[in-house]
Amino acid sequence: MSAHHGVREPSPSVGGRLYQAIRDGARSGRHQNDVAQRHRTRSRLFESRNTGNAPTADSNQVTDVTSVLHLAQPSPAAAAATAWPEPPPGADPLPGHLDRWLAARGAELVAVRRHIHAHPELSHREFETASLVARELAVVGLTPRFLPKGNGVICDIGEGDRVIALRADLDALPLPDTKDVPYRSTVDGAAHACGHDVHTTILLGVGLALAQLAERNELPGRVRLLFQPAEEAVPSGAPEVISAGGMKDVAAIFALHCAPQLPAGLVGVRPGPFTAAADTVSVRLTGPGGHTARPHLTADLVHALGRVIVDVPSLLDRRVDPRAGVSMVWGTVHAGEAHNAIPGAGYVKGTVRVLNRDAWREAPELITRLVRDVVAGTGAEVDVEYVRGVPPVINDRMASATIAGAAAAALGPDRVVEAEISMGGEDFAFYLDHAPGAMVRLGTATPGEPLRDIHQSGFDVDERCIGYGVRAMVHTALAALTNPAF
Ligand SMILES: [Zn+2]
Ligand SMILES: [Zn+2]
Repeated sequence: MSAHHGVREPSPSVGGRLYQAIRDGARSGRHQNDVAQRHRTRSRLFESRNTGNAPTADSNQVTDVTSVLHLAQPSPAAAAATAWPEPPPGADPLPGHLDRWLAARGAELVAVRRHIHAHPELSHREFETASLVARELAVVGLTPRFLPKGNGVICDIGEGDRVIALRADLDALPLPDTKDVPYRSTVDGAAHACGHDVHTTILLGVGLALAQLAERNELPGRVRLLFQPAEEAVPSGAPEVISAGGMKDVAAIFALHCAPQLPAGLVGVRPGPFTAAADTVSVRLTGPGGHTARPHLTADLVHALGRVIVDVPSLLDRRVDPRAGVSMVWGTVHAGEAHNAIPGAGYVKGTVRVLNRDAWREAPELITRLVRDVVAGTGAEVDVEYVRGVPPVINDRMASATIAGAAAAALGPDRVVEAEISMGGEDFAFYLDHAPGAMVRLGTATPGEPLRDIHQSGFDVDERCIGYGVRAMVHTALAALTNPAF
């Protein structure tokens, strides 16, 4: 590695000693005393980790630095899978010898991913993951700050009035991990089945790389890393990041999401609608109940529920523009116990997904009115509860073009494909209320292997996607910083 950075030669191990090098090497000589000091604090920090103390939310405490990663044991399987992908043919080199720097540290980033994967934390409780991120950023001289609850991290790199933001999410899903791999989840009932461990690792790698440029005054502006909690939960974590100032001065924001439908090395881009809004609606009907021999003397609730189930979605299809991409689907229904008794109460619950922002805005009132109209005349009393989930992600056209161009520069022009619209929800949408931005899909599949979908217990990735993701997002940050449109 370049003598300029005083970096040790990379070893083939993914163990902790190699991981240590990522942090030593990221510092210039003037920081060496700090680093040595931090190394001396390591054993004390491990003690505090082992007592299970919650990390402090005070960003000033981040300067105590160590890494759990040097505990990771190298294994043949790990070493085999950690080859850092070469810049593909047709790709542009990164500035400042970053390609060599990243290649030397690919195995360490894979070790980070495996550590996070083995220690998943559920939504709103991402304290250890946030602490790990903050520690690693602090080691390279950055000043990360925690969100007020300590379960997310915001970190600026470089100088400038306008900011380009990059976002990752930290949380795992409440699913068992059914894989048989050395980095399988060690937490019962929690697994990184949506790839947020990969997103976090990539953004950390981007931060370490950009810190290199900033230290040499070669970063042409200010980049903000947003590591948010609770993407999978409602309420979700993006509004917490925004209220903590995460979008202050942000001119554009970018993110990626693992896409098991695409092979590793490909990026899927789509301007316009990208993911759907996902709201929930519950309809509860009540009536006097009675004998099924005499429905005319009561309110036939099962009949009324049936009308809600069938008529409301089909009426909705006739009341909104078909291009708005509205989909209402019931997920649960319950009423009654006996075959000859009309029940006194029943309910139906479902989701409403919308791709168009105006249609999403109007959906609660329209759907509530349709339910009331359908129930009117059945004699039942109706109560509608409509709960907002996340807005639709509508990718900005310029931001999409920027990240598409950057991905082409990072991976080669033939590696950028058109992404499909997803009817899933993604709370990245909240940031787009504050600045233009775009989310892309990062291919994670190993060609020839069966599809391992996100939100499946056995989800895993081709870890070469981490290298591709870091390259694509570093290029994106640099392209956006120099784009006068933002
Ligand atoms: Zn998910
Ligand atoms: Zn996700």
